[in-house]
Amino acid sequence: MTTSIKPSVRLTRRVTGIRISPTIAVMNNAQELIGRGVDVVDFGPGEPDFQTPQSISAAGKRAIDKGQTKYTSNAGTKALRDAIAARYQRRWGARVTADNVIAGTGGKQELFNVILSTVEEGDEVIIPSPYWVSFPDQVQFAGGTPVFAATAAPKFRPTFESIAAVGSERTRGVIINSPCNPTGAVIEASELEKIIEWCSARDAFLLFDETYEFFVYHGAQHVSAMRWYNEHPETVITVNSMSKTFAMTGWRLGFAVGHPNIISAASKIQSHSTSNPSSISQAAALEALSHDAPEVEEMHQAYSERRAWLVPAINAIDGLCCTDPDGAFYLFPEVKAVYGKGKVRDSNSFAQYLLDEARVAVVPGIAFGSDDHVRISYATSMDRLREGVLRIEAALRKL
Ligand code: PLP
Repeated sequence: MTTSIKPSVRLTRRVTGIRISPTIAVMNNAQELIGRGVDVVDFGPGEPDFQTPQSISAAGKRAIDKGQTKYTSNAGTKALRDAIAARYQRRWGARVTADNVIAGTGGKQELFNVILSTVEEGDEVIIPSPYWVSFPDQVQFAGGTPVFAATAAPKFRPTFESIAAVGSERTRGVIINSPCNPTGAVIEASELEKIIEWCSARDAFLLFDETYEFFVYHGAQHVSAMRWYNEHPETVITVNSMSKTFAMTGWRLGFAVGHPNIISAASKIQSHSTSNPSSISQAAALEALSHDAPEVEEMHQAYSERRAWLVPAINAIDGLCCTDPDGAFYLFPEVKAVYGKGKVRDSNSFAQYLLDEARVAVVPGIAFGSDDHVRISYATSMDRLREGVLRIEAALRKL
């Protein structure tokens, strides 16, 4: 007689401990409505509304025509890694070569590879809050514990004091994202330097995500942690992406730059997951990093104009309040003055109300660690921004 075991779907603690990316969930909801033909003004997406510059796409097409459609070296082609290293040498004086670089399928993959390579069970990793949604989950997936360092509204700039205040003997590293998604905060060079020195003195890493490096406005200055790489090569690791600067989200190409031992570890993980990023995307990225495309500055100019229009327009709506962020392409207005009206009681119900009543999609701030705010992406046309603002205003007036 055989004992019958009822089959069940068993999932690991590793995966049940993390959430599906909440920004993806909102995009899915909005996409579902759009798919049904509903006219939604979508302020959700974290991706440029522009096409990839023509010269970059052409390089991708040429790669296909030339038969560059095979596996490449695991960490990316030598030509691409040389170009990335040269860019960091030129811009920040970092003494790095191709051995310091790994290219992968988006910045997200390289963040994951680096975190899996550096964070052990029981380690704590400090993340300024509000934060980009994937940082805490990636840390948790690696067995670590995210520890949040509160930043102060309205600018939300991370400071050395706020990081040091939550440090402990279990601190393994700090993740700084500047310019920040969702707040647009740009860290000051002096604070970043102090944080790097603090990390170095306690043998912790500083993982610097500069995905939005190109998007700073109105005199704000972006400074990369790579400026301090030569003094602290064991400490500073940078992740960057082609996605936002070059409007290349769908090409899936990002990279990490850091100590060769960390890069080798990340490559080892990558060799067992995706092997190498797409050969075609690498050819396109090489073109983007080697020759200036005029569209990149045009996109920056467009974001700058939208931001200049949108900040006062949002502040003119009763109950919404936001600062003019120094970077990225998001506003992070405080909306809690509306809580308690109708069914709106938190950032989730606020976003749901706007989707139902105004057909406007925004991302609830709770996804980023603040329930008092929502994220509005201005990676959309001026016409849609105007339409969205009118709709939000009308919907909130009804409350
Ligand atoms: N880092 C931040 C802060 C982001 O907002 C994103 C994307 O939204 C990424 C990294 C990853 O970008 P990708 O994987 O497209 O390179």
